Amino acid sequence: MSTVILKLSNVESAYGPIKAVKGVSLQVRQGEIATVLGANGAGKSTILKTISGILDPRKGTIDFKGENITAMDPALIVQRGLSHVPEGREVFPLLSVRDNLAMGAYTRRDPDGVARDLALVFGYFPILKERALQPAGLLSGGQQQMLAISRALMAAPDLILLDEPSLGLSPKLTKEIFEIVVRINRERGTTMLLVEQNANMALNAADYGYVLENGRIVMEDTCARLREKDDIKEFYLGMK
Ligand code: ATP
Repeated sequence: MSTVILKLSNVESAYGPIKAVKGVSLQVRQGEIATVLGANGAGKSTILKTISGILDPRKGTIDFKGENITAMDPALIVQRGLSHVPEGREVFPLLSVRDNLAMGAYTRRDPDGVARDLALVFGYFPILKERALQPAGLLSGGQQQMLAISRALMAAPDLILLDEPSLGLSPKLTKEIFEIVVRINRERGTTMLLVEQNANMALNAADYGYVLENGRIVMEDTCARLREKDDIKEFYLGMK
């Protein structure tokens, strides 16, 4: 059994009176891709925001690499090796591609490592090297997604939280992005927690999955087994 790198215990999160996450417990093991599936509004993004410290939970605890990071400052969480690729990418549109990548590495004090990681992300996404000096706002949606993933990698994370990478992308680009996400996981050993509405892509890419409905986890299993369940086939994969 591999080590648990991230553990959520009974996490509850809310926006004022709106309870979005209602007692979620989940675990991500080192080296795997885990996924949280769920419909629009189920609370997937809220779980990721709570883990990365953007939103403080009302209840529960979050442990990362054996340390309690519940409600810790987001910048400190990044320094501990946890990066978040938010829904909608949120690249800095006026900064160049290269400067966006530099922002991902701003807390690092190992210039040689930063240079190595820059070469690594340009290897995964050669288009970003070609466009290194252009403002990020001029990139296509797919290229901005590549940049957002690369910016997260520039922090040399052990775990990446990936929110809805397929949003607004063509099926072809979605497939390309997922293939590279899997490569990064296999080659670099980066653990991933992936949130997706595209259950088909997510279940093919990930090892272990949780199904979230209305702020609660209603099912969990290996993705191989989830793909065979009638409820998943009917409600998430559109098969009868
Ligand atoms: P989506 O794929 O649409 O992002 P999701 O599963 O990620 O869906 P969340 O974004 O986590 O869902 O939203 C969960 C619930 O919290 C929803 O009812 C949503 O309307 C509400 N919510 C999300 N963000 C806010 C906010 N900033 N203020 C108030 N309510 C919010």
